Amino acid sequence: MEKSYLSDRVASLKPSGIRKFFEIASTMKEVISLGIGEPDFDSPPAIIEAGIRSLREHRTHYTSNRGIMPLRQALSRHIENLYGISYSPEDEIVATVGGSEALVIACTAILNPADEVIIPTPCFVSYQGVIALAGGISVEVPCKMENNFMPDPEELEKAISNKTKAILLNFPNNPTGAVADKETLIAIGKIAEKYDLVVISDEIYDRLVYGVEHVCFAALPGMRDRTILVGGFSKDYAMTGWRIGFVCAPTSIMQGVARVHQYIIMTAPTMAQYGALEGLLSCEDDVQKMIIEYDRRRKIIVEGLNYIGLPTFEPHGAFYAFPKVSVTGLNDEEFSERLLQEKHVAVVPGSAFGSAGKGFVRCSYATAFDQIEEALDRIDQFVKSL
Ligand code: PLP
Repeated sequence: MEKSYLSDRVASLKPSGIRKFFEIASTMKEVISLGIGEPDFDSPPAIIEAGIRSLREHRTHYTSNRGIMPLRQALSRHIENLYGISYSPEDEIVATVGGSEALVIACTAILNPADEVIIPTPCFVSYQGVIALAGGISVEVPCKMENNFMPDPEELEKAISNKTKAILLNFPNNPTGAVADKETLIAIGKIAEKYDLVVISDEIYDRLVYGVEHVCFAALPGMRDRTILVGGFSKDYAMTGWRIGFVCAPTSIMQGVARVHQYIIMTAPTMAQYGALEGLLSCEDDVQKMIIEYDRRRKIIVEGLNYIGLPTFEPHGAFYAFPKVSVTGLNDEEFSERLLQEKHVAVVPGSAFGSAGKGFVRCSYATAFDQIEEALDRIDQFVKSL
């Protein structure tokens, strides 16, 4: 066998189940993609202008490690206004290279080798990899459609061992669109307290909720001191390419998180920090407009998929629908591959998000309304042809 120079840690990482589909799709013509988890909107004009202005004003240098102070101050106000919880701009907020970096530095800062992290699944594709790279082990707690894709606190408690260090939550959820109810989060908080666990709460879709309220985990009684809040601008401000996000944590944890950030990243991109600042200061209307449009798309896709005969839970957050395709007799991989080959519609097999996603596919509705209508027609024809 050929010698590998890769570390065991890296060699054991599974390739992302999402990439394969994008690669096939990119070779085909007239593909409608419901595959990608990114807004089809461009960033709001004021954000783009602020980014350009920052360059024109020669802000082409490093910033302070934790990010420019006006951004940290604006974030602190923003989170306090939304959720009534206050983070000190000086000590408890760091601007990051997207939510992605925030997850990496959070896990790296808290995990010792072989520490376990409990993750309700289906979950964002990066979680297992990020945990493994930080030396940890992920322990999946499957969430069921019958339970609105909420983790069952009893099941979650059963998954705890003496190696458990943290719980990684993501609501609103990618890929199911589930938004956690307060009771479930409080029950999970009690478990975190009982076993003295850290909670990493990835709330990157916090603004994208439809007719329900997002509950910020750190704002629940007693949770601030054990929570690492991960957020970003990619989704709600349509800023995926800028690579800007943030992490908030109490000073005791932040000391470590910020140290990791300092060594591996130094600073988030300067231009993106100015863009994000402008987003917080002046783009609430743009965010609201996008929310209204996502909601319009959400209704047609959920109704359409159910009408076609693919049972679909009503998602109240993010921009994903998660229909059950196993009712067609195909598994999620077969369904996705054949739908792509035969009807040129790209979706992502649910098993890419953990074994709890088996039998489902993720359909992103961050795609134009008419494209969604056309995709639904094609899915209907495909299902009828089976
Ligand atoms: N967390 C979740 C749940 C996501 O879905 C994503 C992106 O898809 C991220 C984090 C990372 O986003 P970014 O690094 O663009 O901020």
